[in-house]
Amino acid sequence: MIPYTNLSKEELQNEFEHVRIEIERSKELGLNLDISRGKPGAEQLSLSSELLSVLRSSEDCFDGTIDARNYGTLTGLPSAKSFFADLLGTNPEQVFVGGNASLQLMYDLIAKAYTHGLKNSTLPWSRKGNVRFLCPAPGYDRHFKISESFGMEMITVAMTENGPDMDAVEQWVKDPDVLGMWCCPKFSNPDGIIYSDETIERIAALHPAAPDFTVIWDNAYCVHEFDGPFIPFPDILSLAEKHGNPDMVYEFTSTSKITYPGAGISCMASSKENIEYITKLTSVQIISYDKVNQLRHVRYLKNKENVLKLMQKQAAILKPRFDAVLYMLEEEIGSLGIARWTKPKGGYFISLYAMNGTAKRTVSLVKELGVTMTGAGATYPYGKDPFDSNIRIAPTNASTEEINQAIRILCLCLRYSALEQLLKNLL
Ligand code: PLP
Repeated sequence: MIPYTNLSKEELQNEFEHVRIEIERSKELGLNLDISRGKPGAEQLSLSSELLSVLRSSEDCFDGTIDARNYGTLTGLPSAKSFFADLLGTNPEQVFVGGNASLQLMYDLIAKAYTHGLKNSTLPWSRKGNVRFLCPAPGYDRHFKISESFGMEMITVAMTENGPDMDAVEQWVKDPDVLGMWCCPKFSNPDGIIYSDETIERIAALHPAAPDFTVIWDNAYCVHEFDGPFIPFPDILSLAEKHGNPDMVYEFTSTSKITYPGAGISCMASSKENIEYITKLTSVQIISYDKVNQLRHVRYLKNKENVLKLMQKQAAILKPRFDAVLYMLEEEIGSLGIARWTKPKGGYFISLYAMNGTAKRTVSLVKELGVTMTGAGATYPYGKDPFDSNIRIAPTNASTEEINQAIRILCLCLRYSALEQLLKNLL
């Protein structure tokens, strides 16, 4: 097929009519498909069924002398702290183990910054005139929603293939109102980018004007390769300490996409002093998290080496799904010059960039044909993609057959909205 931009007006009109008819026909299929959220599929969940029976008796519920069933041990079972320290390459005393969602720990951290201030704050953030937060975009919609819900001013920072545009970040942090930054350093949501070592070093070495500038280092996909071997990542916490920023970074991860997203365990890691400070505040809020689940996870997952073996089994399930998306995109629109897309080696998403000005239109057309996708714009602060281009594809919870159908529909709608736009431009 010829790139659309090389077609004459008449050829564009003919193609538009052809695509329109195909879309009308597709409406009759009555599809009901969902490639909107990064959820593991049933097959992945079943890999961890052993988790359901790993604790069978009262005696099984002890972590050394600690009874996991009872109140106490707010910062997490020692074995759970060691487990996450092993996974992230940090020390157990720098780890706080939470409940089933790292997002809740992130939200709580920001909430505490607003109500009480963080360890190095001069004022709670709620009493600062303006709170600005750096948002590398496209990024994770739920990060941006947290910022939005606290009324922060979100500053969009462009993503490059090496991570956030660090020249921009280094400039922005000179502003004392800039109090933090969202980061997803490995297999970023949605682009699947791995921050380069240089980017990570520059983040660790930032010189922010605000003494409580906070990097939210969301390492949600730290062991989530589905194509190729595990890619090691540097320990941001010791790097930040080396550069004189021991309290600047809070790192998060969870087992949501290792075992069960609704019933996993999560953690926050930071300087020992930060963890002590946050623990004191948290002790007013909760007596202890679900340590039975912590213990189940440690007994089942054991250590990083064993997690990586499990992730290889997950990879065998996931890779064909990602391959199916890439194959269909290439087949259907590869030569049309109307979109580009990422080819990640891990994480949960493929990020597609449609012709500028056509993403919203495409996603709403796709919806009309029975395919649910993440709302266009969601990957940018305030839900506003300045180019109206980015579309996130989440293929993990669909069969390859469903993916083939969904991506065929997506491509049809991308063609329709591109043609519509090109024809409009010719008027
Ligand atoms: N962080 C990122 C970057 C994610 O993509 C997701 C889920 O999609 C989460 C966090 C949610 O993690 P949790 O289930 O631990 O709250």
